[in-house]
Amino acid sequence: MLTGGCFCGAIRYEADGAPFRETNCHCSICRRTTGAPFLSMFSVRSIEFRITKGQATRFNSTAKSVRSFCPRCGTQLTGEHADFPEEIGITTASLDDPNLVPPRVNIHTGSRLEWVVPDGLPEYWGGSRQE
Ligand SMILES: [Zn+2]
Ligand SMILES: [Zn+2]
Repeated sequence: MLTGGCFCGAIRYEADGAPFRETNCHCSICRRTTGAPFLSMFSVRSIEFRITKGQATRFNSTAKSVRSFCPRCGTQLTGEHADFPEEIGITTASLDDPNLVPPRVNIHTGSRLEWVVPDGLPEYWGGSRQE
């Protein structure tokens, strides 16, 4: 069981099942919506994810993508894409223990900031499903 939540504690979630698509995403949308140089995310199957406390605010980051965040403290929590309705992306650093789900790849490295030092993981210029 993976558990996590936002910074202020208003929203809590849990997920069971095996994580997959563990990525560092360097796309500009992840960057702008978090205020961080890149975003670490992973996916679980949607049916394996539950909000256990509070209610996240949802917004479209693209026509097909919806992200959620805590309306009180701003922590971004999830990302969903209309083309992949059976999975949900979770921000890795919102886990209680982010060390449990290390990233395996970097995606959208074509827009990686110049001062972000490559970490040696495989890189993909595009291919994000999180935008
Ligand atoms: Zn919060
Ligand atoms: Zn992204």
